[in-house]
Amino acid sequence: MTDKVVVITGGSRGIGRATALAAAARGYRVVVGYASNQAAANEVVSAIEASNGKAIAVKCDVGSEQDILALFKAADAFGTLGALVNNAGIVGKSGVRVDEMSAERIQQMMAVNVTGSILCAREAVKRMSTRHGGKGGVIVNLSSVAARLGAPNTYVDYAASKGAIDSFTVGLGHEVAGEGIRVAGIRPGLIDTDIHAAGGEPDRAHRLAHMVPMKRVGTADEIANAIVWLMSDEASYVTSATLDVSGGR
Ligand code: NAP
Repeated sequence: MTDKVVVITGGSRGIGRATALAAAARGYRVVVGYASNQAAANEVVSAIEASNGKAIAVKCDVGSEQDILALFKAADAFGTLGALVNNAGIVGKSGVRVDEMSAERIQQMMAVNVTGSILCAREAVKRMSTRHGGKGGVIVNLSSVAARLGAPNTYVDYAASKGAIDSFTVGLGHEVAGEGIRVAGIRPGLIDTDIHAAGGEPDRAHRLAHMVPMKRVGTADEIANAIVWLMSDEASYVTSATLDVSGGR
């Protein structure tokens, strides 16, 4: 058990929600970031409090540096930061080829999935690095198997944003390895969450399940379990590494 704080961006739904509940069950005080769905974020906080855990909901669009600064300020008031889960992520409309993509779409994708994750990590390193007087900690970045597959004819911009996350995990991990911070990534496969509906294809994960060696979609809990393991001392020699949690895909 720990009395440390974990910041989870996009902690209100899907994988972020499952991670918030799993981290709280392991004694973390949870900062539940959300973009707009305050009711969902409040529900996560209530569920954690009902199990005698501690959590707060903080509105933070990771596309906004100002929101990110406010998120970490709220975390500072809640306790000592011990972990960041860079979970917030978006997809664009599925089935759009690169030769059909608008600049705005690509910029938004990179702003949220890449710049947002890097800025959150910057704030976490400032607080957790022994170089800055911190006590160390863990950063877990959400990538995707799309980084390996490229997502042709689906959303190459999303895949490229997750490829950037994989490089970021390697580089940042090396940068802060001597400062008490581990940095790890997770590449989920097809997971049963609302993100597919956001891409205009609510059915996507189930439609493609036959292509998964394990012949099924994954659950948000299965990703959350891997994330909280990476956050734990059981993963104390894991850094700059990204784990596929994808049923073999
Ligand atoms: P989801 O069900 O769509 O939930 C997204 C969460 O992120 C929500 O809490 C949402 O907040 C928040 N969010 C959306 N845009 C945001 C922004 N601009 N700033 C801050 N928060 C924002 O997504 P998910 O499936 O759980 O995905 C979580 C992560 O796993 C993402 O990085 C995704 O790319 C990655 N992943 C997912 C899958 C999959 O199959 N599901 C596969 C591979 C990788 P609101 O509730 O306020 O909207």
